[in-house]
Amino acid sequence: MLPVVLILMAAMLIGVFYLRNKTDEANRVYAAEAAITPKPTIAPPAIYAKPTDALLRSGSVGVEVQQLQTKLKELGFYTGEVDGQFGGGTKTAVVHFQEQHGLNPDGMAGAETLAAIYSAGAKHMVVTPRPALPASGQDLPMLVNRTSSIPEGYTPRDLVALKDVVPRDMLILKDPDVRANRQAVEALVKMIRAAQADGQQVWQVSEGYRTPARQQELFNAQVQQLIKDEQLSEESARKAAEKTVALPGTSEHHTGLAFDLTVPGYFFGDTPQAQWLENHCFEHGFILRYTANKEEITGFLPEPWHVRYVGEAHARFMEEHNLALEEYLALYRQ
Ligand SMILES: [Zn+2]
Repeated sequence: MLPVVLILMAAMLIGVFYLRNKTDEANRVYAAEAAITPKPTIAPPAIYAKPTDALLRSGSVGVEVQQLQTKLKELGFYTGEVDGQFGGGTKTAVVHFQEQHGLNPDGMAGAETLAAIYSAGAKHMVVTPRPALPASGQDLPMLVNRTSSIPEGYTPRDLVALKDVVPRDMLILKDPDVRANRQAVEALVKMIRAAQADGQQVWQVSEGYRTPARQQELFNAQVQQLIKDEQLSEESARKAAEKTVALPGTSEHHTGLAFDLTVPGYFFGDTPQAQWLENHCFEHGFILRYTANKEEITGFLPEPWHVRYVGEAHARFMEEHNLALEEYLALYRQ
């Protein structure tokens, strides 16, 4: 027995010795080669040397976004973390850059925006002294959107029936019992009077205050419509419906401060009334809540007929600074 063990141990020792020799040999060769090989000079990566052509937008991730953030930070537009994730902060930075460079402020970095950002002509952010925000801290417009529902059980103050307040024959009321907040209705009357003085005579109110229960009916109806017309599955139909009909609790009509203004028999967007509204509603304390250039922010397709009463000071400010309500309210949190 003993000789066998001894033989085995000897074999192991020889093996270990052999392997060590092999390793030493390899190390020697490597050291010799390293000594005669010139050390590679590692060029610093060309950070934002040239723009990517990829469209970067909310949700984009990666090194291109990191480069974009780095550049926007250098220009003073971005103050967040350079994390390669295109989120809300990056988007706001892109919007501000676009606004300051005469580009369409859609918050997406496409070829044109990227070319401007990486060009020698890219300007540093001009810090406009924070404009004197109207009515700071009090009476801020209420925000109701996809992520900010109306408080449960909320009923707007001072709801009145339009038929009791609006002068006869001034407006067509699609629903004769339509109601809204008194102050908003009074502003609406002034606005329509001004429009009519400008030659835009015919106006209809299609919607005013709407309860969450009514919103649920409208939403369900839209889902059923889509299932029928587009042969969508219930789930797809719900997703599609959310693009145009707010979920119960998330419609601005719950505030009693929103109206849908239409012209019977016409697609409102094509009417001179729509143009008038776009140009003048802010003078009367209204904003167009869902516009094409803010679609990414509001999450709604453009609705040229939907006005929201916010009061004149707020409306003017948003008009002058091209802000959606979400962006405007964010200024108060800065
Ligand atoms: Zn509406």
